[in-house]
Formats: sequence, C-alpha cells, structure tokens
Amino acid sequence: MDEIAKVIVDVSSSQTDQAYDYLIPDNLKNQLSIGYRVKVPFGTRFVQGFVVDITYTTGVDYELKYISDILDAEPVLTPELVALGDYLSQTVFSFKMSCYKTMLPNFLKANYHKEVEWIDNTCCPPLFEKQKRISWKMIESLGMTHAVLKWKKEEKVIVHYLVEDKITHKTQRFVSLVKPIESIPIRANAHQQKALLDYLSQSSKVSTKTLAEANISLKTLQSAKQKGWIEITEEVIERNPYEHITFEKTMPLTLNEEQKTVYTQVKESILKREPKTFLLEGVTGSGKTEVYLQLISDVIQNGRTALLLVPEIALTPQMVKHFKGRFGQRVAVLHSGLSEGERYDEWLKAKEKKADIVVGARSSIFAPLDNIGLIIIDEEHETTYKQMDTVKYHARDVAIWRGQYHQCPVVLGSATPSLESRARAQKGNYTFLTLTKRANDKPLPHVQIVDMTTEKKVGNFDLFSDILKLAIEDRLQKKEQVALLLNRRGYASFLMCRDCGHVMQCPNCDISLTLHKDTHKMKCHYCGFDTSIPTECPNCFSDKVRSYGVGTQRVEEALYQLFPQAKVVRMDVDTTSKKGQHERLLNIFGSGEADILLGTQMIAKGLDFPNITLVGVINADTSLYLSDFRASEKTYQLLTQVAGRAGRGTLSGEVIIQTYNPEHYVLQLAQTQQYEEFYKREMYSRYMGHYPPYVYTTTITITHHFESTALKSAYQIKQILEQSLGKDVVLLGPSAKSIARINNKFYFQILLKYKNIKAVEKVLYQITNDSQELAKEKIYVSIDVNPVNFI
Ligand code: ADP
Ligand code: ZN
Ligand code: ZN
Repeated sequence: MDEIAKVIVDVSSSQTDQAYDYLIPDNLKNQLSIGYRVKVPFGTRFVQGFVVDITYTTGVDYELKYISDILDAEPVLTPELVALGDYLSQTVFSFKMSCYKTMLPNFLKANYHKEVEWIDNTCCPPLFEKQKRISWKMIESLGMTHAVLKWKKEEKVIVHYLVEDKITHKTQRFVSLVKPIESIPIRANAHQQKALLDYLSQSSKVSTKTLAEANISLKTLQSAKQKGWIEITEEVIERNPYEHITFEKTMPLTLNEEQKTVYTQVKESILKREPKTFLLEGVTGSGKTEVYLQLISDVIQNGRTALLLVPEIALTPQMVKHFKGRFGQRVAVLHSGLSEGERYDEWLKAKEKKADIVVGARSSIFAPLDNIGLIIIDEEHETTYKQMDTVKYHARDVAIWRGQYHQCPVVLGSATPSLESRARAQKGNYTFLTLTKRANDKPLPHVQIVDMTTEKKVGNFDLFSDILKLAIEDRLQKKEQVALLLNRRGYASFLMCRDCGHVMQCPNCDISLTLHKDTHKMKCHYCGFDTSIPTECPNCFSDKVRSYGVGTQRVEEALYQLFPQAKVVRMDVDTTSKKGQHERLLNIFGSGEADILLGTQMIAKGLDFPNITLVGVINADTSLYLSDFRASEKTYQLLTQVAGRAGRGTLSGEVIIQTYNPEHYVLQLAQTQQYEEFYKREMYSRYMGHYPPYVYTTTITITHHFESTALKSAYQIKQILEQSLGKDVVLLGPSAKSIARINNKFYFQILLKYKNIKAVEKVLYQITNDSQELAKEKIYVSIDVNPVNFI
C-alpha cells in the first residue's frame, strides 16, 4: 500500500493552510512521521515542507508526486507542536507555515551546514571508513539520507548543525604526538620542547591554550610540527555559555505561611493533573521565585518537566543563578543574549531530554519539552509576551493551550497583573492566589510624591527636587545604593529653534529626532536615521536652537555635576545593545563598584540588589498621557516595579517619585501600592470607555509607501468588514496611527471591538487570504488580535 504524507509547503507568495499529499518513497517507508521537514517538488521547483500527517488514502484525483528528500534526520516538531501550529494559525490569523517557522529556533531557519558523524565503535559502513564526519550535502548527493535517518534511530550517528558564523562555531586547537616519544631527540637546553613532550607523555592530546599558559610558544609548536613530531588539529567544542560560571548550590528556604498556601494549592493541581490557570498576585519581594523553585523541584522529582517564562530583560544573571544553583545542568536557558548556536544547543538539550527545565523569554513557550507538569509565566503583565510582528501570538495563550494538552496547571505571576488576567480571576476563569507581604518581613518601601510644579515656583529648575537631592546625598554618604528611573533615552527629546519654532524631524518618519550627546548625533528612534547636531536652525539659520525634554544622558551629566564623587552606571538601549553589556553593567553595580544605577524601564524589572535603599523616579509623567487606553496601567506597573527594587535586603527602602501631576489617580494609588484599588478604579474607566477587558479588540493595519494608496485600501477593507459584520461589532477608523509615517511608509488602522471572536473570525480569515494579493502590490495588511500596543 502507498504511504502518503500530508505536507504544509513553504511557498511565501501564495501561502495556504491546505496540506498537499505526497507519496513517500520506498526507502523512507515506515520511517517518516509527523513533524519531519522534507523537500518536495512544487510547481517547477523544490520547496521545504512539514509533514503534518501520514495516511494511506488521498482525496485528490491527479497523480501524486514523491517527497524528494528529508531535511533532518529526525522530526523538528513534535506532534504536540504540529497541533499547536494548527491552533495558532486559527487564532492569530497567520498561515500554518509561518506558525511552524515561529516555533522553531532561528537556527533551523538560517543558512546552516550539516555534518553527520558516525559514533558507533562496533561497526562502520564504507561511507565512514575514511572519515568519521561527512557533510549532509555529500550524503544527499549520494542519495543516502534515508540511511542516515535509520542510523539516527539506531543511535549510530549524530547530526551536527553548524552556522557559518564564528561566534557560534567555537573551536579549540589541540596538539597530539604522531611519533613514539622515545624516537624524538631533544637537546638538553631546549626547555620548551622538553616541556611540550612532558605534557604529551601524560595525555594523548593537549589544547594549545593549556600550552600557551605553560609558556610554550607557538614557534616551538610550529617547529615540532615541521619536524613531524606532532600534529595540530582544530575541533568544535561544545558551546556552553554557562560553562565558565560555577553556580553555588542553593537550598530550598522554609516557606512562610502565605507561600505555603500558594504552594499547596498549585501542587494539588499538579498531582491531580488539572489544567487550571492560577493568577498569583504577589507584592514585589514576596518570594514568588522561591515558590516557583519548589514547585518545579517537585515536578521534576515526579519525572515530569517544567517551563518558566520571564521577560527578556529580567533574564538577568541573577535569575539564571537561582535556577542553575538549584537544579544544575538540568536547566536549559534560552534568551537573546546567546548566539544562535548557543541557543540551538540549549533547545536541543530540552528536545533530547538532557534538560527537564526550560527557563527563557517569550519564544521559549515553544520549547520541545515532553510530559510537562507545570508552566509558569512570571511578570505576566509584561507586553513582551506578545510577539508584535509576523505571527502575533501571546505566550500566555500558548501556555494555557499547552497546559490543556499536558493536563497541567499554568501559573501567571505578577505584583501588578494585567487587567485582563485580574478580571479573569474575578470571574473565576483563573484561580486567584495572593502573597501580600514581603518575604523578608520588612514593610513595602515608603513612597513619597514630589510635586515638581511647586519646586519650580520656589525657583528650583533642576532635574532633581531638593528632597531627592538630599536623599541621594544621604545614601552616598552611607555607602548604600540608588536606582533612578527615567523612561526616556538620549540626551534631549527634541531640538527647537527659539526664533521660528522649527523642530528637527526625521526625514523618513513623522517624529522628532532625539539628541544624543555621547555620539554627537540627532537620532530617530524609529528608523535609525541619524545626522549631526546642528548649530543653527536649518529653517531660519538662527543660532538660538535649544534642546527640550530630558533623557537619561542628560540626567547622567547632571548627576556628575551634583555628585562628582559618585559613580553612575547608565543602562538604556544605547548602553546595552552589544552582547554581554547588560550583564557587565549589572555586575559592576552588583559588586558595589557603582553607587547609582540610572536607566529606562529596563532597570525596573527583576533586579534583586539588597543594597538599594533609595529609588528615584525623575519624571513619572513620561508614559501617563500616551494615546493608548493602557497608559495608566503601564505607568502604574512601571512605578510599582521600580519601587519594588528598594529595600529588598535587611535595610529598609524609600521611594521618591517626581511628577507634574501629583493628583493623578495613578500616582496616588502607586504611592499607597494597593494594586487592588488601582484595579477597581481602572476597571471603571475601561467600562466607561468600552475598552478591554470589557470587550475584545483587533486592529487591522494597512501600510504603503503612498499615503493615498494605503488609505484607499484601508477603505476597501472597511467596506468588506461592513458587509459582513453584524451590529454587535464596533468598527472604528480607518485612522492614521499616532505616528502616521515610519521609515517612509504610511500606517492606517482599523479597530474592531466585540464580545465574541466568532463574530469577526470569518471575515478576518477572508482578509488574511486576500492580503496575499495586496502584498504583490506592496500593500501590507496585518491583523493583530488583542493588541498590547495602540501607538
Ligand atoms: P518576588 O519574586 O516575589 O519579587 P523574590 O522571590 O525575589 O520575590 O524574593 C525576595 C527575597 O526574599 C529574596 O531575596 C528571597 O531569597 C527572599 N525569600 C523568599 N522566600 C523566603 C522565605 N521563605 N524565607 C526567607 N527569605 C525568603
Ligand atoms: Zn529657526
Ligand atoms: Zn525615522
């Protein structure tokens, strides 16, 4: 009987969710299964595809073609992930192919080179007699890939994926003898040669690094090689980014009463295999991490696996230390600080069951773990859990889907849950758990609000109020540490001419350029455009150009003027864009070398430095009046998070928030740190404004180089929507996005509000399908279900 594979093919211009039938060639019969990547003929060319099913019948009446080859020696997707791709494509309105690609590590998408290594010592087929490693291409050209698949199943080969990228391809050089040591003549005064032979008499192979450390020069090695005594080989060593760090073993702490209650409830669900979702609302420093660690420990003791998601930026060395310290090598850590190759290694550890815990950022939600017993999303309110481009999924939804699949609970943790999650807990869709006290038994830090308008009235035009200045001075004297938040990078927000009012704008975007003093540039934060800082107005040539709006660089400068003896670490996108810099800056601060940590929101999350006793917010208003209905929620979350950095150790903490809007309810409620009060107040304004969580929203964004073309398509799409949507759906727009032009493209947006996704599903599928035709004219339509950003 013919074996038939159903394959989703990768044809970018005309994607479809329909699987095509292909015959499985004889040499792959009974070998292929769901999740394999294959090469198949499509039209006049060959494309990649994913096997989503294997059957014996076909519904088509034309002659089927054969699968031409396999792309890997084993499936890259598990049956679970194939099913998940199905679910995703239906809920985020992306094609299945895009979903599968999203679930795989970048590594498998990049240009890579594969090598097959024979590892069985008991036998060896002729192919591997001369060399143990052969390139996949060579095997493919010999038509032998099916044999590799068989050998792989018998564990006789390993397939190595190599990226042509030096960072990921860590190699080490080794020296070994090629002649019996007795036959080598050595002059008595040739000390280096003697030392070299000493090393080689003790072990068959020594790394050049070791020899260099023993002061044996490269010259010595070269001459030994010329004389035919030794050979120098290069080998790929296993990449392990955490190899150089030894993690101190940590022991479980005795949980306090509140922690115990939380722990017991979740544990019960784990044991009963209940796919429940818990919302854990715990104040900052309440010991959520310790509860996570102990729950995970139970899960793996029972032979199951666990997944913990943290926001990218919170994946600090501190977090890694917690997990590596408790669980050692059984943890795979995935984050963007790793090179592609390193990330692939960690992914593979999970896939090959060498790790049973995965800790990572958003995309780790697709980690190929089997038999999951618990999924945790820490800081669940973070918008980074939503992927903003291509497949616009939310990790929270994926977690809940996987929880159902594995019959295990999902824990969403936060000090300031998203309103959506908190409302679900209210309705009983999620089980609500709370931690109301700090684990160190200290009260939450005292928060003081400083009205900057009165500071101005008494003649203080500085960036710092007197209160904040004195408090910083006090901490510097006591050798305690300070964290300062200003959620705006650069030196000044814009340059304006005092004579004609001209503001320097980005030529590609509808936004002003930001002044960067360190690089002496005017920069666009949206498209990356930069130009030199003008000394005169480009419009009227007046020399009265002034900068307005304060950024982190400006605050740094002011700090050095006020406190010349202090050492400041500035952390923002500009100082942390290179690999390892984020970690390095945190280490400098953590070791006590610096006194003040100044930064954007990236300093608000996950840091646990016991010596921080003062947190200052330079300007709490930066995010308060954004044209987004979530502006209040985001500001409240940011203020609570950053305040939570103070007083985490044995010393008490103090927080000073500067604002021009001291009466605003967000600031009032952030001061008392009562999330529950904030939740009630904010729910009321969402109710009045018909915003989530009272309704669901979807945006459709239409983009083109010409404003008129974009707008015309937007109206055409609106018409399609109007024809098929009922009265229960509110349709707004099209309107220009708040930054109407970015990188010379115009953005128009249509907003849908509805109570039930069923009311919009059908027409959104239609728009998704139609969008491919429009894309040929470079009109891009993108659908975002439950967007987290409206600007
Ligand atoms: P959260 O994640 O809720 O902000 P953490 O888990 O970082 O809080 O805990 C804050 C601090 O309290 C940490 O230094 C942690 O070691 C400590 N801690 C947590 N639980 C306990 C406990 N049961 N007993 C003593 N200290 C604890
Ligand atoms: Zn001017
Ligand atoms: Zn720009």
